[in-house]
Amino acid sequence: MRQFLDIKEQHADAIVLFRLGDFYEMFFDDAVVAARQLDLTLTTRDKGKEDAVPMCGVPHHAARGYVAKLIELGHKVVIAEQVEDPKLAKGLVRRAVTRIVTPGVFLDEESLEPGVGRYVAAIVRGGAGEADNLLGLAYLDATTGEFRAATLRADALADELARVAPRELVASADDLASNVVARVQRRLRAATSPVVIPEADEARAALAEAGLPLPGEPAPARAPAPAAPGRRRARPAAPAAPTAAAPDAGEDARALALRAAAAVLRYAQATQPGGALPVVRLEVYETSDALGLDETAVADLELVETMLGKRKHGSLLEVLDHTATAPGARLLRRWLLFPLVDVAAIRRRQDAVAWLVERPEELAGLLAALREIADLERLAGRTTLGVATPRDLARLRDALARLPALAERLTRAAASSVELPPVLDVAPLVDPAVARLHARLAAALVDAPPTLLKDGAVIRDGVDAVIDECRRLADGGKEEILAIEVREREQSGIGSLKVRYNRVFGYYIEISKSQLGRVPAHYQRKQTVATGERYVTAELAELERKVQTAEATLAERELQRFTELVREAAAVAPELSAAGAALAVIDTCCSLGEAALRYGYTRPDVDDGLVLHIEDGRHPVIERLLRAGEFVPNDCHLDPGADQLLLITGPNMAGKSTFMRQIAHIVILAQLGSFVPARRATIGLCDRIFTRVGAADDLSAGDSTFMVEMRETAAILARATRRSLVVLDEVGRGTSTFDGVSIAWAVCEFLHDAIAARTLFATHYHELVALAESRPRVRNFSVAVREHHGTIVFLRHLVPGGASRSYGIEVARLAGLPRSVISRARQILGRLEGGASLGQSPQLSLLAHVAAPTPALSEVERRLREVDLDQTTPLEALAILAELRRLGA
Ligand code: ADP
Repeated sequence: MRQFLDIKEQHADAIVLFRLGDFYEMFFDDAVVAARQLDLTLTTRDKGKEDAVPMCGVPHHAARGYVAKLIELGHKVVIAEQVEDPKLAKGLVRRAVTRIVTPGVFLDEESLEPGVGRYVAAIVRGGAGEADNLLGLAYLDATTGEFRAATLRADALADELARVAPRELVASADDLASNVVARVQRRLRAATSPVVIPEADEARAALAEAGLPLPGEPAPARAPAPAAPGRRRARPAAPAAPTAAAPDAGEDARALALRAAAAVLRYAQATQPGGALPVVRLEVYETSDALGLDETAVADLELVETMLGKRKHGSLLEVLDHTATAPGARLLRRWLLFPLVDVAAIRRRQDAVAWLVERPEELAGLLAALREIADLERLAGRTTLGVATPRDLARLRDALARLPALAERLTRAAASSVELPPVLDVAPLVDPAVARLHARLAAALVDAPPTLLKDGAVIRDGVDAVIDECRRLADGGKEEILAIEVREREQSGIGSLKVRYNRVFGYYIEISKSQLGRVPAHYQRKQTVATGERYVTAELAELERKVQTAEATLAERELQRFTELVREAAAVAPELSAAGAALAVIDTCCSLGEAALRYGYTRPDVDDGLVLHIEDGRHPVIERLLRAGEFVPNDCHLDPGADQLLLITGPNMAGKSTFMRQIAHIVILAQLGSFVPARRATIGLCDRIFTRVGAADDLSAGDSTFMVEMRETAAILARATRRSLVVLDEVGRGTSTFDGVSIAWAVCEFLHDAIAARTLFATHYHELVALAESRPRVRNFSVAVREHHGTIVFLRHLVPGGASRSYGIEVARLAGLPRSVISRARQILGRLEGGASLGQSPQLSLLAHVAAPTPALSEVERRLREVDLDQTTPLEALAILAELRRLGA
């Protein structure tokens, strides 16, 4: 118990699995929690006593699954092993923590999703002064060594992390409690751990010690390590020299990213007392390096999972994903979530995809070849971490074996025609260090080694003289022992004599009861059993000793050789990582090429302009759900100078959201380097895509749908630029019709007048079509509908001009509302459209107004009289004011 309590004290926030013989036991609260969540039987130690300790346990061979389950439930797990041989230990067997498993640092291959990175992230909030609302963010995938850090504004954190989706957040205790961190933590449902965040100098030193070159660091001469403390002390004097403020602020900002990086590295490293993290490079990036996609856009556009059900099936990722390897799948996901904003870089990716699309046979061949290659990144990671099994090394060997052929396939195809596009870089696949490692593994490892070292031969014959000799002795010894059986039978004349083996006595000779009279004198009796007696001979004992010594030496020597091989693999970690990355890029480009070929995508023209021009665009996901030719393509032309805001009206279910989402998808696809579902497309680069589509799902926070909608709209209006693409669907729907129309109207005006961002605005308030009269860059479009014998047919075709009516009742009828309700609704609508007021309801009478204009002045008057000041919020008041001005204008 002492040992357990010591360990528990060090790891109060974790569930401690304490090894006792063949079980891992848990005690106290750990046991209570684990018993409940893992469905184990809760028992007690020292049964019957007053203060009996609750405990429960899992068999050691089944621990993996239980640990995985605890991790998925968000727990941290500490594993304390017996670190002494129980046979040799004097007194209590010593135990020590050998592994810490956390939701963010989780290496269990069987439980990890192959195509998704497993990240732990650190957050550091800026101190006082200018950097106040800045944050340092770093995240790390301990299975592959992917490691990035950035400094960003506090209000960008949620969006960035929504894309990274770390499973665990570490930060100082204060920062964890802060609003900004607590909010993202709740949304991500990430586990948290408080850590001590290193100061900037300490962080730089820690990163340097981990062998990570920091790109763009100021030359060491500028900030020599010993001088640093003095410099820090001198800082309060800075305001006296205002010219120094700007560069200093920049450096402070960068320091935040580095401090977060050092913190997350240290945290992850501490979980792995037995090995090093496979981290070879830290990428310091800016959030502006990628197309801005906020949390809502990622969710609304169903980029990697659907809104309902949160499944990959039905997402854009699923349509694009034809990758053949896990690293490829992870990279594709990253490309999709972080499209580019650099035209040259986008074109380089397009070149690669185009090259493959032009060579469908090569593309198919490459994908087939890639399919044979295991997850090189994670295998390399496991060697560095020291958790690689013999089978892992064999898989690494087999993966490496296929690299040269893959490289050759690409270069051969290139040699016969044009040059290989630079993105398809094969150099890391044929790196001499990688080739050397492969040769070593191929020569040393048996073809199919067991998972566990103790389960059999790992090193080939002929590699190590000692191993060969021991194997010969062990095998030879066993053969000799069998020979003894034959000889002893002959000599003693006992035909049923048998040489047998068990763990307690080793080899022995067994004689059945009826033959006991014929036992030779030199046999030594060992044990009596029901069927007879067991004996040993000096010769047998000697041979057995020889076999055992040989086997022990063999095991030790194999372990030594195996450890050497793992170490050699770990030594080329940077080269393996580069090869893995190159492979991932090739796979991802092949996947994009495959999607382009299968679904008839074309290469878009991406440029620095602001024009967005799409001919016959399609929705990449919805068209897959329909039969060929069923999806109706649509054009789209957006240009902040002329056709800036497309106001799309039409009844529900007409296809408005589908159209708008497809434009956003096409832009994202274009900027990630993919081909797009359109006959032709020109994409003037976007800096951000904002969306406000579909049902809000943030009701858990206690806000009304309308509040969420307004908050998201406010964020868009605050952040959109002329280069952004804004997609708004049914803004204002969450409130009364009158408020809704007013807000929608005012939002459109703002987007037109103040921002001039390319905007798609869908609404079923057909009153908004009047906007185009006063705003020159607003264009009305509607989704065509054909009326047919009092019913409607959706044509899915976008046509110029606004919808004249909303067809709400027809849609309601299609949805199956009772016939009596429909006909009553028609009757009421008829009266409203005729200008009549229903009298009882101010809402309805207002509606009548909008629908049937009366002279402007009386409208203003009447509207004013109807305002119930006691029931009006300031926001509503503003909207009313805007409406009054419009009515009066
Ligand atoms: P709205 O936003 O106008 O209410 P949606 O965009 O949700 O309508 O479209 C409703 C349904 O119509 C979609 O789920 C899809 O099945 C179908 N649809 C939409 N656009 C098209 C199209 N261009 N071609 C074929 N079917 C479409």
